[in-house]
Amino acid sequence: MHEISVAQEIFRIVHQYVPDPKPNTVKSVKVSIGKLSNVLKDSLTFCFDAITSDTPLKGTRLDIIELPVKIQCASCNEVAEIDEPVFVCPNCGENQIIVISGTELKVDEIELFDENQFVSALQSRDREEQ
Ligand SMILES: [Zn+2]
Repeated sequence: MHEISVAQEIFRIVHQYVPDPKPNTVKSVKVSIGKLSNVLKDSLTFCFDAITSDTPLKGTRLDIIELPVKIQCASCNEVAEIDEPVFVCPNCGENQIIVISGTELKVDEIELFDENQFVSALQSRDREEQ
């Protein structure tokens, strides 16, 4: 199942920012998922709950935001969001288009119960980036 590997990836990313989580430390994780990534929200939530059930992340809520599919037309350069995966430019009807977004998976935010811990998690990420 595709969702189990996505759930494992989210689990791994949370541990990057919160290396040694204690029970009731991480309240929620906000993730953005492109509509073309073939991830079912319910299935991902189920997998994440299953993976975390025997860990200190048990009970952590997954907030899933679905991102629209964005395309760019190779003919007229129109950038547009499309609801259905019909791969034609809504501006000129051309089908030579580039899919710009819609397949991504991002962890946007990790919310902790303790506000101070949230700050320190963000700080340690900043240090890593320097
Ligand atoms: Zn076009």
